[in-house]
Amino acid sequence: MDHPRMTLISANWKMHLNHIEALELVQQLAERFRASTIPAGREVSIHPPFTCLAMVGATIAAERVPISLGAQTCHYADAGAHTGEVSAGMLAALKVRYVIAGHSERRARGETDQVVREKIDAIYRHTMQPILCVGETADERHRGVAEEKVRQQLAAALSGRPAELVAAAVIAYEPLWAIGTGATASPDDVANMCSAIRDELERVAGTHAAAMVRIQYGGSVTAETCEALLSGKDVDGFLIGGASLDAEQFSAIVIG
Ligand code: PEP
Repeated sequence: MDHPRMTLISANWKMHLNHIEALELVQQLAERFRASTIPAGREVSIHPPFTCLAMVGATIAAERVPISLGAQTCHYADAGAHTGEVSAGMLAALKVRYVIAGHSERRARGETDQVVREKIDAIYRHTMQPILCVGETADERHRGVAEEKVRQQLAAALSGRPAELVAAAVIAYEPLWAIGTGATASPDDVANMCSAIRDELERVAGTHAAAMVRIQYGGSVTAETCEALLSGKDVDGFLIGGASLDAEQFSAIVIG
C-alpha cells in the first residue's frame, strides 16, 4: 500500500432485519471473522437499524470481534420535540463510531445539503465520525456534470471546518444509478472520481487532512467486483448494501 490509510468496509443494513434476524447475522459474522481474521489494514463497520444497535454493539463486544458499530443517520439537534428521531448523543452513548450522513435514499426524501451539514455538526459534537455520501444521478453523468455535483456536495458539507475534523471524515462515493441496481461503476470511473474527491478535499482542508480521509465506493459491490474496484489509489473501501446482508458474501468481500 502506498498510503497509510486503513481500508474501511461498511455494511449498511438499511431497513432490513428485526433484532432476532440481526442477532443471527452478527453471530455468523463473528464466527467468520474469528476463524479467518480480518486482514491487517482493514476495518469493518456494521450499520444496523436503530432497533438493533444496542444488541449488535453488545454482541460484538461480548464476542470480542474487531467490528466498529455504525448508524445509518441521526438528527442534527441534541434533544427536543422531534418525535421519532434519534440524536447523535444517543448513538455516542451506545459506542457508535461511524454515522452515515446524506445517503441518497434520504436525500431523495428531502434531506438537503444544509440538513446534511447540520447532522455532520452533531456527529462531530459527539466525537463520532461521519460517513458522508456523495454521488451523481445517471442524468448528471450523461450530461458530464458528475464531478461538479460531487465537488459541490463535498464543499457544502465540509468547507470551513477545522482540518483535523475533515481528516476524520469518511466519504462514500455512491453514484445513484449503481445503488441497489446491480449496475456497478467501472473501476476506472470509480478511481477517477475518488481522485477528484481527494483533490476537492485538498482544496477544502489542505493536503495533509485530505491524505487522511478514507474514500469508499458504494453501488452494487459484490465479492466478484470488489478486488478490481479497490485497485484505484484513492479507493479506501466500500459502503455495501445488498451484499452485506449475507454473511458469506460480506465476509468474502472483507477477507478477500
Ligand atoms: C448503499 O446502500 O449504500 C449501497 C451501496 O447499496 P447496494 O450495495 O445494495 O448497492
